[in-house]
Amino acid sequence: MKPIEISFEFFPPKTPEGIEKLRETRKQLALLKPKFVSVTFGAGGSTQQGTLDTVLEMAADGLEAAPHLSCIGSSKDSLRGILNQYRSHGIRHIVALRGDLPSGMGEVGELRYASELVSFIRAEHGDWFWIEVAGYPEYHPQSRSPKHDLENFARKVKAGANSAITQYFFNADAYFRFVDDARKLGVDVPIVPGIMPITNFSQLMRFSEMCGAEVPRWVARRLESFGDDREAIRAFGLDVVTGLCQRLVDAGVPGLHFYTLNASAATKAICERLGV
Ligand code: FAD
Repeated sequence: MKPIEISFEFFPPKTPEGIEKLRETRKQLALLKPKFVSVTFGAGGSTQQGTLDTVLEMAADGLEAAPHLSCIGSSKDSLRGILNQYRSHGIRHIVALRGDLPSGMGEVGELRYASELVSFIRAEHGDWFWIEVAGYPEYHPQSRSPKHDLENFARKVKAGANSAITQYFFNADAYFRFVDDARKLGVDVPIVPGIMPITNFSQLMRFSEMCGAEVPRWVARRLESFGDDREAIRAFGLDVVTGLCQRLVDAGVPGLHFYTLNASAATKAICERLGV
């Protein structure tokens, strides 16, 4: 069987302690030989320097590092500046997003959707960048309808994306159905499932509420029942997420993209159990 390709997502740390923690995490996870690592970007450019610094540090360490770039709240000029900067540093892989503006903050900007950002990157840089976009097996929370969201996903890919990474999910059938439906709309790029390790119940519920990912009732109830027993949450979360990943791998997914939250233990444990 072909070895499964994995990738890891990090966020740019804000404090000296956070920077040190991420260095240690990166050292641990680099041993798993990821295909690439990615670094998130705050909408409106709030983490612009942190994303650049983190990406350059990871690239200097020999990792293929892909910055995320979101267009909401930004002008074409500022996006152009960021893209040119990445290019001047030899970065060739990027995750193109719309992003979310913090409520009540700022203007929408010149590009309203990720599809417009993908077109903009292609118009400015041709084939220089390998472009990833986001997909939503349980549909984007603001989408008008599942059909409309799928059509928008297809439009975004056809604007010039090379590959997609999904929002995390715990229901493999949602992912399989999403991929089938996207293929029917002519999407032929790899659609890599995004994987969220479970380590913290309240944080998981908060994130899932925000991004529209469903935590199955049986999983939520079991996690809740562990209260402050972090070891029990960790062990159960490891079982659930490894089971999901195994099912995805058995079905032949093109890779697994882990939302590491800048911590290595849970992601590493899942990969070890999968035999990565
Ligand atoms: P889009 O593809 O533009 O879609 C947004 C919404 O608009 C959807 O409801 C879609 O159906 C609708 N839509 C799209 N096109 C049209 C159209 N032409 N007309 C009408 N409606 C349309 N956020 C960050 O801020 N920083 C990050 O680094 C980051 N990384 C992420 C990485 C991954 C893998 C994923 C899955 C998400 C990430 N996000 C990040 C979150 C993301 O920015 C949000 O989910 C955001 O709300 C949507 O971004 P998008 O690129 O999917 O948007």
